[in-house]
Amino acid sequence: MKIAILSRNPNLYSTRRLKESGEKAGHDIEIIDTLHCYMDITSNRPAVRYKGEALPKYDAIIPRIGASVTFYGTAVVRQFEMMGTFSINESVAISRSRDKLRSLQLLSRKGIGLPKTGFARHPDKIDDLLKVVGGAPVVIKLLEGTQGIGVVLAESRKAAESIIEAFMGLKANILVQEYIKEAGGADIRCLVIGGKVVAAMKRQAAPGEFRSNLHRGGSAELIKLTPTERKTAVLAAKAMGLNMCGVDILRSNSGPVVMEVNSSPGLEGIESATGKDVASMIFEFIEKEAKPNKTKTKGKG
Ligand code: ADP
Ligand code: MG
Repeated sequence: MKIAILSRNPNLYSTRRLKESGEKAGHDIEIIDTLHCYMDITSNRPAVRYKGEALPKYDAIIPRIGASVTFYGTAVVRQFEMMGTFSINESVAISRSRDKLRSLQLLSRKGIGLPKTGFARHPDKIDDLLKVVGGAPVVIKLLEGTQGIGVVLAESRKAAESIIEAFMGLKANILVQEYIKEAGGADIRCLVIGGKVVAAMKRQAAPGEFRSNLHRGGSAELIKLTPTERKTAVLAAKAMGLNMCGVDILRSNSGPVVMEVNSSPGLEGIESATGKDVASMIFEFIEKEAKPNKTKTKGKG
């Protein structure tokens, strides 16, 4: 098959691994820099142009859209969908997952376990907002942060109030969330492809840190999921409409709670922690699913 990987950087581990395993499986793989794509959005024969030429019709695309380029990146994916190209993750699903608030609301609708979470812009009663999520300690998150940046632990009510006031002064949208202390600075990354958890790892925060992000010095190891955790991850992927994603779960006293769902999960940590060839599984899924016009929304909002 002719498959394009949309990625800003061909040297990233995930991009390299995808190219290598796609070629090993006999596919024709091209890496396209998302931000260098451009298009006539009004043409009745939609196309994507790149370096002065119209791109050929691919059988499938694998979007790897970084958080900082979500807006442009999803527009490019939408254009491919309008051409009838299969995208492993649809543009609408990528947009959904990028917004922490929208994601939590969608997951909540499906009855998936979540940390108690409040959303506010300018409440007159910060103490009531704190009460809603069970009081301090709480985790305060910038709505569009990533890699652990913009996630703060406020240990006392006073600290929480000052941080919330400071963020509000900056007109930032924030989530205030119950702190799942019993998770002990660890979370579980479940990699879901085509409705199945294909690999899972536990990430442990560095000493003195509560954020387990590998970018924040966390370490990863293989973990065995409980059936409930497995089911939760699959339901979360389904609620977001993502064929391929990383579902991050915390082990709370009341069972697994989903923290976030990532539509461009990195492959390096999970492949090295589990020894699994996740990149090849992505192609196996595409081989099975990518038929012309199989992208459900065909670019619809
Ligand atoms: P980001 O998108 O920046 O990765 P997350 O919501 O995933 O933001 O939070 C970063 C890390 O902080 C998580 O991986 C987890 O280790 C920790 N964390 C986030 N929310 C909570 C919470 N409610 N309770 C305990 N730890 C949390
Ligand atoms: Mg995270």
